[in-house]
Amino acid sequence: MHNHPRSPVSASLALDIQDISKTFKQKKQHLQVLDAISLQVHTGEFVSIVGPSGSGKSTLFHIIGGLTAPDHGSIRLHDQDITGQKGHISYVPQQPALFPWRTIEDNVILALEVAGVPLKEARQEAAQWLERAGLADFRQAYPQTLSGGMQQRVAFLRGLISRQELMLLDEPFSALDAFTRSDMQRWLLDIWEENRRSVLFITHNIEEALLLSDTIYLFSSRPARPIHQLHVPFSRPRSEDIIEDPEFRKLKKQLSHLMREEQQKGMDFGRLEGNL
Ligand code: ADP
Ligand code: MG
Repeated sequence: MHNHPRSPVSASLALDIQDISKTFKQKKQHLQVLDAISLQVHTGEFVSIVGPSGSGKSTLFHIIGGLTAPDHGSIRLHDQDITGQKGHISYVPQQPALFPWRTIEDNVILALEVAGVPLKEARQEAAQWLERAGLADFRQAYPQTLSGGMQQRVAFLRGLISRQELMLLDEPFSALDAFTRSDMQRWLLDIWEENRRSVLFITHNIEEALLLSDTIYLFSSRPARPIHQLHVPFSRPRSEDIIEDPEFRKLKKQLSHLMREEQQKGMDFGRLEGNL
C-alpha cells in the first residue's frame, strides 16, 4: 500500500472539459463564442478562469450545467459523461438570485430540500453554516433586507451546502465594493481551505485569482479559448499577506500584461468589425 501525501493537483479528475465549441446562430447572424475549449479540475482543486468580458465564460458555465448545448465536445464529471445534463453540479450565478419570498434560511436549504433531505436536518445544517458566515441573526430575515455582500454569502452557502461536489462560481464578487470584496475573498479562502471542494471560478480580477487558486486559465477574447495556464506556486493555508510577496507581484504583472494584450486585440477586432 503506497501512502502518497494527497496533493489536490495529483488527485483524480473531477471535471474534464474536452474540445467544447459553441456558436450562437440567430437568423443570419453567427456568433462564435467558444473555440475548442479543454480544461480540467482535479478533485479538491480550485481553478480560476480569467478572461475579457463578453468572451464566453458564462456560456461555458451554462454548458457545464447543461443549460446550453455545445456544438461540439464533451463534459465529464468523475469520468461520467454529463454533456447536456442538468443536476450534477452546484452553480452560484453572477447575481445572487435569492428567492425574495423565502427567508434566508429557506433560501440556503433549497438544494437540500430539492434533494429530499428531511427539513429538520437541512435546517440544522443551514443554521451551522449561517453562524459561520456571520448571518445567524438573519435566519428569519428576507433577502431584500440584507446588503449585497450578505446576499452573496447566502447564495454561496446555498451552493456550498448542496451535496454536489463541484461548485461553479461565476464572478461572485463582481458587484461588491472593494472592501466587501476583500472581506469575501478572505472568507471564501478560509471556508474553502477547510472544505476543499472542487471549484471552477470565473473572475476578472487577477489578484483574486492568484490569491484563491491552485490553477489559473487565461482565456482569449471572443471566441474564447485558453491562451495561458498557470499553476499558482503558493502553499496553503494562504493568508492575504501573500499579495505583498515579490513572486505574487511578478505573476500578477505577467498575467495583467497578457490580459491587456488580449483585451487590446478584442478592441482592435471590434474596430475592424465596425468599419466593415
Ligand atoms: P462573459 O461571461 O465572458 O462575459 P458570455 O458568455 O456571457 O460572456 O457571452 C459571450 C457572448 O455570447 C456575448 O457576446 C453574448 O452577447 C453572447 N451570448 C450569450 N448568450 C447568448 C444567447 N443565448 N444567444 C445569443 N448570444 C448569446
Ligand atoms: Mg459572464
